[in-house]
Amino acid sequence: MRRCAGLAAIFLSLGAGLALGAPPFKTAAVKTVEVFQGELAEIKFSAPGIAAAEGRWGGEKVFFYAADNGNFTALFGADLEAKPGPDKILVSGSTHAGAPWTTQIPLKINAKAFKRESFAVAQEFDQLSAELLDRIRREQEQFARVFAVSPARRWWARPFAAPLAKEITSPFGYRRVINGTARAPHTGVDLKAAMDTPVTAANHGRVVLLGDFFFSGKSLVLDHGGGLFTVYFHLSGYKAEEGAEVKKGDVIALSGMSGRVTGPHLHWGARLNGARIDPFQLVDKLNDKAEQ
Ligand SMILES: [Zn+2]
Repeated sequence: MRRCAGLAAIFLSLGAGLALGAPPFKTAAVKTVEVFQGELAEIKFSAPGIAAAEGRWGGEKVFFYAADNGNFTALFGADLEAKPGPDKILVSGSTHAGAPWTTQIPLKINAKAFKRESFAVAQEFDQLSAELLDRIRREQEQFARVFAVSPARRWWARPFAAPLAKEITSPFGYRRVINGTARAPHTGVDLKAAMDTPVTAANHGRVVLLGDFFFSGKSLVLDHGGGLFTVYFHLSGYKAEEGAEVKKGDVIALSGMSGRVTGPHLHWGARLNGARIDPFQLVDKLNDKAEQ
């Protein structure tokens, strides 16, 4: 018997009125996908006669997969700062006969009440010189280039596993006030970790970035395919090489306190279709073997 482990699996009926010269599907039948900021939803829809589908959310690609029962599925992540309210995924593809096909999946992004925390960091990290700002901008561009490319092939398999024991010292989405000024929200989860604690891969993937960055320190990014990435920051060292394929549970790094931190911990984050999501969404929602 299938379990639905808390996953908002959304079934969309697009109708079956496939006829030449007429819109093949009634988009009015598409149900709205509701998702909270920083969370993910699994989208499933029935599209008889459709051979391929690809989604777009703003400038980001949403990967759709044909299921063997004729349905299409996708994972969609809402960025933690996505504007609450109505939105949409534009879906385009082609019929088995080769005719172009498009539809829209309406979204409703719900605001999430993130907590706020205040803390202080050393002035050297808080007063950024023009040179340092330039370095930070170049590093952000380097991350953006990595996140812009992902193969359609999914490496991952359910379930996801946290890279360390789940002892959260700073939750996802906290609005941080640093030295008295509101800053960018916390885009990952901080997990308690003594220096040099083994960090394991949350799932199968490829190491697409290794580097030492101003904010995140020694950092590792795994590409799991289909636009899904997990990131591991403030490491003391690496146990995998850039370009290597790793398996779920492999030790990929050691935790540390490199970068802008106040003590040793692991910052674990996730990206899906360009959206910064709570990585525990993967653990909590992609854990149902029956849903594969
Ligand atoms: Zn963090």
